[in-house]
Amino acid sequence: MKKIIALLIVLSAVLSISACSQTAKDDEKVFFGLNTVITFKGPSSVAEAARRLINEYENLLSVTLETSEIYKINTQNTSTVSDITADALKAAINVSKITEGAFDFTLLPISQAWGFTSSEYRVLSSTQLATLLEKTGWERVVVSENEVFIPEGFRIDLGGIAKGIITDRIAELLSEKNVDGALISMGGNIYAHGTNNGKKWNIAIRDPFSSGTVGSIKVSDTAVITSGGYERKFVIDSVEYHHILDPNTGMPARSGLSAVTIISKNAALADGLSTGIFVMGFDKGTKLWKSRDDFEMILVDDNGKVFVTENIAPDFSGKYTIIKK
Ligand code: AMP
Ligand code: MG
Repeated sequence: MKKIIALLIVLSAVLSISACSQTAKDDEKVFFGLNTVITFKGPSSVAEAARRLINEYENLLSVTLETSEIYKINTQNTSTVSDITADALKAAINVSKITEGAFDFTLLPISQAWGFTSSEYRVLSSTQLATLLEKTGWERVVVSENEVFIPEGFRIDLGGIAKGIITDRIAELLSEKNVDGALISMGGNIYAHGTNNGKKWNIAIRDPFSSGTVGSIKVSDTAVITSGGYERKFVIDSVEYHHILDPNTGMPARSGLSAVTIISKNAALADGLSTGIFVMGFDKGTKLWKSRDDFEMILVDDNGKVFVTENIAPDFSGKYTIIKK
C-alpha cells in the first residue's frame, strides 16, 4: 500500500511538472529559511524548487554560516566569489548609490555591537559608535567581476536586500515553469506571481502599531516588501531600539516613519529601498520616488498616518493620504 501511495505521489509530481500551465491551488507549503518562516502558495513541484533555490542562496549569502561566501569575505580582506554573490553585492551597491548611502550593507560591526545578531542586547555610547563607524562605509567595498575587497575590520551584511534578490530568482522560476498564480511570503517580503484564480492578489499591509493591518493592495507579478522597526527590537530603560540603523550615527534610524512598503517588479530594488527609505524618511523618500518610475510606496508615519503614492492608490483599500508626483 505504501508503495502505491509513493508511486501516486511521484506520478502527480511528474504530471504537474510536465503540465504546460499550472495554477495556484489551495496547497500551501511552509518552511523555515533566511531566519524567517517562508510560505509558498502554488504548485508543490515549484515550492520544492523554490525551497532549494532559497537554500542555495542562503548558503552563499548568510552572515552567520561559517561556510558562506559572505562569511569568507568578512574574514579575509580579498576573496573570489561566485557569480551569485558578486551579483548580490552589485545589487546592494546599486541601492546604496540610489539612496545616497541610507542603505549601507557594511553596518554589521554596529549591528553586532548592539546585539542584533546574538540577541544579547546592550546600549552603545556615542564614543563606542564613533569607533565602530570607522569600520563602515559601502563606498569602500570594491567588487570587480568576481573579486571582492573590503578594508580591515569591515563586515558585509546583505540582510537588508538578500530576500529581495532571492525573490527575483523565484519570480523567474515561476515564469519559466508557466505557473499561472503563486504567492511567496518570507517575513515582510511578499511576491505575488500572476493571478489568484484570475483575479489580482490582495496583499494586507501590516499596522506597525498593532497586530492588525492598515489596508490592502491589489497586485500581480509584483513584489510587496515592508521594512519596520517592529520586526526586531529591544527595550532598555523604557527606550526602544530597533534593527534598522542610520549609517550616519549607528543609532536605530528615527526618521519619522514606522513602516515602509515598497511595491516594484524588481524585488531586490524593493527590498533595498524599503530599508533605505525607512532610514531616509518621508521627504527624502518622496523625492526619490518622484525621480524614478520603477517603484511605488505605502508609508506609515510615527503617528500611524498612511500615505500611498498616486499610481497605486486605485488598488489600495484603506484610509490614506495620497502622495502626488
Ligand atoms: P529589512 O528587514 O529588509 O529592512 O532589513 C533589515 C536588516 O538589514 C537588518 O536586520 C540588518 O541586517 C540590515 N540593516 C540594518 N540597517 C541597514 C541599513 N541602513 N542599510 C542596509 N542594511 C541595513
Ligand atoms: Mg529590505
